[in-house]
Amino acid sequence: ALQAASTSTPTMAPLNAELLQLDLNPTPAAPDFTNLVFGQKFSPHMLIVNWNHRTGWSAPLIKPYGPLSLSPAAPALHYASGLFEGMKAYRSADGSGKIRLFRADKNMERMNRSAARAGLPTFDGDEFIKLIKTLVRIDREHVPYGEGQTLYLRPTLIGTPDTLGMGVPTEAQLYCICSPVGNYYSSGTGSKPVSLLARTDVVRAWPGGTGCYKLAANYAGATRPAMDALLEGYHQVLWLFGPDRQLTEVGAMNLFVVLRDQNADSETTRYEVATAALDDGTILPGVTRDSILSLLRAYKAGNVQIEGLPKPENVEISERKVTMGEIIERAQGGQIAEVFGSGTAAVVCSVDKIGFEGVDIPIPIQADGMGMFMRTMLREVTGRQWGAIPCPEWSSVC
Ligand code: PMP
Repeated sequence: ALQAASTSTPTMAPLNAELLQLDLNPTPAAPDFTNLVFGQKFSPHMLIVNWNHRTGWSAPLIKPYGPLSLSPAAPALHYASGLFEGMKAYRSADGSGKIRLFRADKNMERMNRSAARAGLPTFDGDEFIKLIKTLVRIDREHVPYGEGQTLYLRPTLIGTPDTLGMGVPTEAQLYCICSPVGNYYSSGTGSKPVSLLARTDVVRAWPGGTGCYKLAANYAGATRPAMDALLEGYHQVLWLFGPDRQLTEVGAMNLFVVLRDQNADSETTRYEVATAALDDGTILPGVTRDSILSLLRAYKAGNVQIEGLPKPENVEISERKVTMGEIIERAQGGQIAEVFGSGTAAVVCSVDKIGFEGVDIPIPIQADGMGMFMRTMLREVTGRQWGAIPCPEWSSVC
């Protein structure tokens, strides 16, 4: 259905991985896995495909990583006509040399939804996955070997015509670059739980807006508030929405709140794992969020065994609004078990404090800096990403 967007006509060439052309880097730099700060090093190659509204998708090209050639009028530069994805290639720890992608089809679906919303061309996600896999195979020596280290993949789509006109772009570039990244859990602030500043003066997204798409524009408006939170001594922004101060997302992660019916954990404690619903357009549908919800639902239904969780009958999973009022009330009653964010970068990341209207609300954290659900989901999701837990539905080899 996405292929039938108004910008496509049947005569236009679809994205076709078989047309791939190679212009390989004659002097690729040796892999360098020292000081892997996020997004600062790049692999020697990139993938690029041009699109034109008359002819469709051109032959894909893998070429040396390097600057784009772009009109200074390109709508990507003026009207934020751009969007991206974030995924990773995981090198198997078993010595087999296998490199895997995790649920890449979900990223492609989301990218096509973003493209449709932005008036940019949609494409066959399976073809783009084939191309990305080829790129990863070519740059396979740049997929780090260390525990938790990955090759971060950044598929990007931008509007590129040589015009300041505000219409739907008539030309676009789809590309993917790759960046070796370190283990979130052994680098910098990521090894510790994060503190959140719940801000009431800025909003990230609103119903009918673009928050549920991965549009570049969403991130432009979020960076300064994030910097301000850092200056105030918090790690990330907790984005609220509406007069009832609904919790939406944290930084660039989805948010999970685990509530309990007693003020401590025991054999009989019942838990509710709650995250915002996707119904109003303010929440980015995270692949990690979906993976966590799917695993918990499968656990509850008895379809998967997961060690380290309460009995299935004592776990409820809900997609619903949680407000700051509820957080304050439940925190006072000792009924918050844990709070964590979820996203491709960290998988899950626990929260130890929420600053709201001048008061810090402490969130329980266990001695290892995690909570029961967060710790278990970290193991279950990473196991499926790296292949330690076989999961052919979610994981595919490059
Ligand atoms: N929310 C926002 C705003 C994000 O940028 C991201 C990162 N893509 C997420 C949530 C988490 O999504 P995912 O689990 O797909 O990485």
